Amino acid sequence: MMKIEVICGDITQLEVCAIVNAANCTLLGGGGVDGAIHRAAGPDLLEACRKFNGCQTGEARITPGFRLPAKFVIHTPGPVWHGGTRREPELLRACYENSLTLAEENNCRSLAFPCISTGVYGYPKQAAAEIALAAVLSWKNKLPEKVIFCCFSERDAEIYRSLLAEKL
Ligand code: ADP
Repeated sequence: MMKIEVICGDITQLEVCAIVNAANCTLLGGGGVDGAIHRAAGPDLLEACRKFNGCQTGEARITPGFRLPAKFVIHTPGPVWHGGTRREPELLRACYENSLTLAEENNCRSLAFPCISTGVYGYPKQAAAEIALAAVLSWKNKLPEKVIFCCFSERDAEIYRSLLAEKL
Protein backbone atom coordinates (compact mmCIF):
# COMPACT_ATOMS: atom_id res chain seq x y z
CA MET A 1 0.00 0.00 0.00
CA MET A 2 1.40 3.38 -0.99
CA LYS A 3 2.03 5.87 1.75
CA ILE A 4 0.53 9.34 1.22
CA GLU A 5 1.63 12.37 3.20
CA VAL A 6 0.36 15.93 3.14
CA ILE A 7 2.75 18.64 4.24
CA CYS A 8 2.88 22.39 4.09
CA GLY A 9 6.28 23.68 2.99
CA ASP A 10 8.81 24.48 0.30
CA ILE A 11 9.18 21.60 -2.15
CA THR A 12 12.78 22.60 -2.98
CA GLN A 13 13.87 21.61 0.53
CA LEU A 14 12.53 18.06 0.47
CA GLU A 15 14.88 15.11 0.74
CA VAL A 16 13.00 12.80 -1.59
CA CYS A 17 14.01 10.90 -4.69
CA ALA A 18 12.07 13.19 -7.03
CA ILE A 19 10.13 16.43 -6.84
CA VAL A 20 7.63 17.49 -9.48
CA ASN A 21 7.84 20.91 -11.06
CA ALA A 22 4.63 22.64 -12.19
CA ALA A 23 6.40 23.85 -15.31
CA ASN A 24 5.24 25.64 -18.44
CA CYS A 25 5.51 24.28 -21.97
CA THR A 26 8.85 25.94 -22.68
CA LEU A 27 10.46 24.12 -19.71
CA LEU A 28 12.71 27.17 -19.47
CA GLY A 29 11.63 28.29 -16.03
CA GLY A 30 9.00 30.71 -14.82
CA GLY A 31 7.47 32.06 -11.65
CA GLY A 32 5.98 30.29 -8.65
CA VAL A 33 7.25 26.85 -7.82
CA ASP A 34 9.06 26.64 -11.17
CA GLY A 35 11.18 29.69 -10.35
CA ALA A 36 11.89 28.42 -6.86
CA ILE A 37 13.04 25.05 -8.19
CA HIS A 38 15.34 26.60 -10.80
CA ARG A 39 16.86 28.98 -8.23
CA ALA A 40 17.52 26.19 -5.77
CA ALA A 41 18.81 23.69 -8.35
CA GLY A 42 21.18 26.17 -10.01
CA PRO A 43 21.82 27.00 -13.69
CA ASP A 44 22.58 23.42 -14.74
CA LEU A 45 18.88 22.70 -14.48
CA LEU A 46 18.05 25.20 -17.21
CA GLU A 47 20.73 23.70 -19.45
CA ALA A 48 19.27 20.22 -18.92
CA CYS A 49 15.76 21.49 -19.69
CA ARG A 50 16.80 23.22 -22.92
CA LYS A 51 17.55 19.86 -24.51
CA PHE A 52 13.89 18.85 -24.49
CA ASN A 53 12.76 21.68 -26.74
CA GLY A 54 9.66 22.13 -24.64
CA CYS A 55 6.96 19.75 -23.49
CA GLN A 56 3.23 19.53 -24.14
CA THR A 57 0.67 20.09 -21.42
CA GLY A 58 0.08 16.90 -19.45
CA GLU A 59 3.36 15.28 -20.50
CA ALA A 60 6.43 15.04 -18.26
CA ARG A 61 10.22 15.08 -18.54
CA ILE A 62 12.88 14.15 -15.98
CA THR A 63 16.22 15.79 -15.18
CA PRO A 64 18.74 15.50 -12.37
CA GLY A 65 18.09 17.67 -9.32
CA PHE A 66 21.57 19.23 -9.42
CA ARG A 67 21.95 21.31 -6.23
CA LEU A 68 18.62 20.20 -4.81
CA PRO A 69 18.42 17.57 -2.10
CA ALA A 70 16.14 15.65 -4.49
CA LYS A 71 17.91 13.37 -6.95
CA PHE A 72 15.50 14.19 -9.80
CA VAL A 73 13.10 16.87 -10.96
CA ILE A 74 10.09 15.79 -13.01
CA HIS A 75 8.84 18.72 -15.07
CA THR A 76 5.21 18.71 -16.13
CA PRO A 77 3.26 21.61 -17.62
CA GLY A 78 -0.21 21.67 -16.10
CA PRO A 79 -3.25 22.97 -17.99
CA VAL A 80 -4.25 26.62 -17.80
CA TRP A 81 -7.79 26.82 -16.40
CA HIS A 82 -10.23 28.04 -19.06
CA GLY A 83 -13.41 27.17 -17.20
CA GLY A 84 -13.12 23.40 -17.61
CA THR A 85 -14.07 23.17 -21.27
CA ARG A 86 -10.63 22.51 -22.70
CA ARG A 87 -9.93 19.05 -21.30
CA GLU A 88 -8.38 20.56 -18.20
CA PRO A 89 -9.34 17.66 -15.86
CA GLU A 90 -7.95 15.04 -18.23
CA LEU A 91 -4.74 17.02 -18.79
CA LEU A 92 -4.21 17.60 -15.08
CA ARG A 93 -4.68 13.92 -14.37
CA ALA A 94 -2.14 13.14 -17.11
CA CYS A 95 0.41 15.36 -15.32
CA TYR A 96 0.11 13.22 -12.19
CA GLU A 97 0.10 9.91 -14.07
CA ASN A 98 3.03 10.74 -16.31
CA SER A 99 5.02 11.97 -13.30
CA LEU A 100 4.30 8.76 -11.41
CA THR A 101 5.42 6.76 -14.46
CA LEU A 102 8.73 8.60 -14.70
CA ALA A 103 9.32 8.20 -10.97
CA GLU A 104 8.71 4.48 -11.27
CA GLU A 105 10.95 4.12 -14.33
CA ASN A 106 13.75 5.82 -12.39
CA ASN A 107 13.31 3.60 -9.34
CA CYS A 108 12.11 6.37 -7.09
CA ARG A 109 10.74 5.30 -3.74
CA SER A 110 9.56 8.80 -2.83
CA LEU A 111 7.95 11.51 -4.94
CA ALA A 112 6.66 14.97 -3.97
CA PHE A 113 4.05 16.96 -5.89
CA PRO A 114 3.18 20.65 -5.65
CA CYS A 115 -0.44 21.71 -6.31
CA ILE A 116 -0.02 21.72 -10.11
CA SER A 117 -1.96 24.40 -12.05
CA THR A 118 -3.49 25.98 -8.94
CA GLY A 119 -1.26 29.07 -8.88
CA VAL A 120 -0.95 31.36 -11.88
CA TYR A 121 -2.75 28.79 -14.06
CA GLY A 122 -5.92 29.29 -12.01
CA TYR A 123 -7.23 25.73 -11.63
CA PRO A 124 -9.80 25.63 -8.78
CA LYS A 125 -7.99 24.21 -5.76
CA GLN A 126 -10.57 21.73 -4.53
CA ALA A 127 -11.17 20.26 -7.99
CA ALA A 128 -7.43 20.04 -8.63
CA ALA A 129 -6.82 18.27 -5.33
CA GLU A 130 -9.55 15.73 -6.11
CA ILE A 131 -7.85 14.90 -9.40
CA ALA A 132 -4.40 14.72 -7.80
CA LEU A 133 -5.56 12.38 -5.09
CA ALA A 134 -7.62 10.19 -7.43
CA ALA A 135 -4.64 9.76 -9.76
CA VAL A 136 -2.32 8.82 -6.92
CA LEU A 137 -4.83 6.49 -5.25
CA SER A 138 -5.35 4.65 -8.55
CA TRP A 139 -1.62 4.03 -8.93
CA LYS A 140 -1.17 0.35 -8.08
CA ASN A 141 2.49 -0.15 -8.97
CA LYS A 142 5.18 -0.83 -6.39
CA LEU A 143 7.12 2.39 -6.92
CA PRO A 144 6.95 5.09 -5.74
CA GLU A 145 6.26 3.77 -2.24
CA LYS A 146 5.59 7.21 -0.85
CA VAL A 147 3.92 10.29 -2.35
CA ILE A 148 4.03 13.65 -0.62
CA PHE A 149 1.59 16.41 -1.48
CA CYS A 150 3.71 19.45 -0.71
CA CYS A 151 1.28 22.32 -0.28
CA PHE A 152 2.46 25.88 0.00
CA SER A 153 -0.30 27.07 2.32
CA GLU A 154 -2.16 25.57 5.25
CA ARG A 155 -5.38 26.17 3.36
CA ASP A 156 -4.24 23.94 0.51
CA ALA A 157 -2.99 21.30 2.93
CA GLU A 158 -6.39 21.30 4.66
CA ILE A 159 -8.10 20.52 1.33
CA TYR A 160 -5.90 17.46 0.85
CA ARG A 161 -6.23 16.33 4.46
CA SER A 162 -9.99 16.41 4.42
CA LEU A 163 -10.15 14.63 1.06
CA LEU A 164 -7.81 11.94 2.36
CA ALA A 165 -9.88 11.51 5.50
CA GLU A 166 -12.92 10.92 3.29
CA LYS A 167 -11.23 8.46 0.97
CA LEU A 168 -9.18 6.26 3.28
P1 ADP B 1 0.96 26.87 -12.06
O1 ADP B 1 1.46 27.76 -13.17
O2 ADP B 1 0.99 25.40 -12.44
O3 ADP B 1 -0.34 27.32 -11.52
P2 ADP B 1 2.41 28.00 -9.77
O4 ADP B 1 3.84 27.83 -9.45
O5 ADP B 1 1.91 29.37 -10.07
O6 ADP B 1 2.11 26.96 -10.95
O7 ADP B 1 1.56 27.41 -8.57
C1 ADP B 1 1.44 26.03 -8.30
C2 ADP B 1 1.40 25.81 -6.81
O8 ADP B 1 2.74 25.83 -6.29
C3 ADP B 1 0.64 26.88 -6.03
O9 ADP B 1 -0.18 26.22 -5.07
C4 ADP B 1 1.76 27.66 -5.32
O10 ADP B 1 1.32 28.22 -4.10
C5 ADP B 1 2.76 26.56 -5.08
N1 ADP B 1 4.16 26.94 -4.78
C6 ADP B 1 4.84 28.08 -5.07
N2 ADP B 1 6.11 27.99 -4.63
C7 ADP B 1 6.24 26.76 -4.04
C8 ADP B 1 7.30 26.07 -3.38
N3 ADP B 1 8.51 26.61 -3.23
N4 ADP B 1 7.05 24.82 -2.89
C9 ADP B 1 5.84 24.24 -3.04
N5 ADP B 1 4.81 24.84 -3.65
C10 ADP B 1 5.00 26.08 -4.14
